[in-house]
Amino acid sequence: MTTSSLYHTQGIRGYKYINTKRSGDTETYLLCSKAKHLPCPRCKSRKTSLVKTGKTRMIRGLCIGLKKTVMCVEIRRIICKDCHASIQEPILFCPNSNVGFTKWAARFVIALRKEMSIKAVAHFTGLHWDTVKSIEKARLEKEYSKIRLANVEYLGIDEVYLGKIMGYITVVRDLDSGAVLFIGKGKGGDALKKFKKRLKHRSKHIKAVAIDMANSYSAWVKDVLPNADIVYDHFHVIKLMNERMNNLRKSTMNKLEDEQKKELKGKRFLLLRNEESLSKKSAAELERLRFEFKDLGTASLMKEHLRNIYKLANSCKLARTAFLLWCQKAEASGIKCLKQMAKTIRRRLQGLLGYWRHNRITSASQEGFNNKIGWLTRQAYGYRDEKYLHLKIYDLPNISTRKYL
Ligand SMILES: [Zn+2]
Repeated sequence: MTTSSLYHTQGIRGYKYINTKRSGDTETYLLCSKAKHLPCPRCKSRKTSLVKTGKTRMIRGLCIGLKKTVMCVEIRRIICKDCHASIQEPILFCPNSNVGFTKWAARFVIALRKEMSIKAVAHFTGLHWDTVKSIEKARLEKEYSKIRLANVEYLGIDEVYLGKIMGYITVVRDLDSGAVLFIGKGKGGDALKKFKKRLKHRSKHIKAVAIDMANSYSAWVKDVLPNADIVYDHFHVIKLMNERMNNLRKSTMNKLEDEQKKELKGKRFLLLRNEESLSKKSAAELERLRFEFKDLGTASLMKEHLRNIYKLANSCKLARTAFLLWCQKAEASGIKCLKQMAKTIRRRLQGLLGYWRHNRITSASQEGFNNKIGWLTRQAYGYRDEKYLHLKIYDLPNISTRKYL
């Protein structure tokens, strides 16, 4: 090692290399600062002296292959003759004064985190699990401290359940870019108070907002974004239909004898899943269920019918006709959950058609995004830290969930 290669391999400048100690898989380089004179960090006075303390600090550098490196730095203090301060000489190759790793080591960790889990990065670099996490957290905090709302035209607002400990959050996204714009704790308009302030100057430019059909956010949208259209997108319509159908399955099941009950139990996903994604065997089973439980069968067919409207209708006018026909059929069926759904559709028809008026608004799929959040929370690590979890959600659009991270 030389002073020059310290600069080129570890990003360390202003320090002189003295010697190397080797033990096991670790290389320790003794370094001392080249600075002969430093201004007072507090009052900027030049009337200072540098005093050796005899102490050293150990700072982790970049690995060299499988070898770990440690910079052993002599600590000096800056003594100010003007303000009498005695302050430790700052180590400029560290991200800040109280961490035990170099800037380049932090950059390396961030690069590795794109491909590896925290545990794997910690294992590979020999850094502590908490250190790896805090390096990533600092990077995310910097990146997402200011999120620009310029150019945003289409918003998607949705509540997401993060489990017993974290409860609900409300996520606002830019439906064009897919970026997460805001995360509020809880659900409903209250969770969006802080976002309202941020929207102030942007509110006139928002063309439409996609929300769920449970009406939790419609009052907020009308209040804060009076010029924007409320749109009920494809994902939320099918979600509501599935919820209603599942209630029908439950009530049907409760009316049955024990023997027959077994047949419907555990069939939730068979009924709710998209027909085209069923295997041959499952499709046959669904056929049989539809035949055996007439009401449930009709409801399941009507759900597919509703999905087809989204697939096939290519204009607002066609969609309107299709929705109204669907409602007539649903009402004629006499089945309670379908009649309820028809009522909702008639009442929210404008919002439903908004989906077509705004060019099928959801290019950044809400369903896919909610699945990604589920994927994130299922990975048990670190997410007891709420702030970190929120930051990871901001970062989700940049992450491929096919990997285990
Ligand atoms: Zn001073």
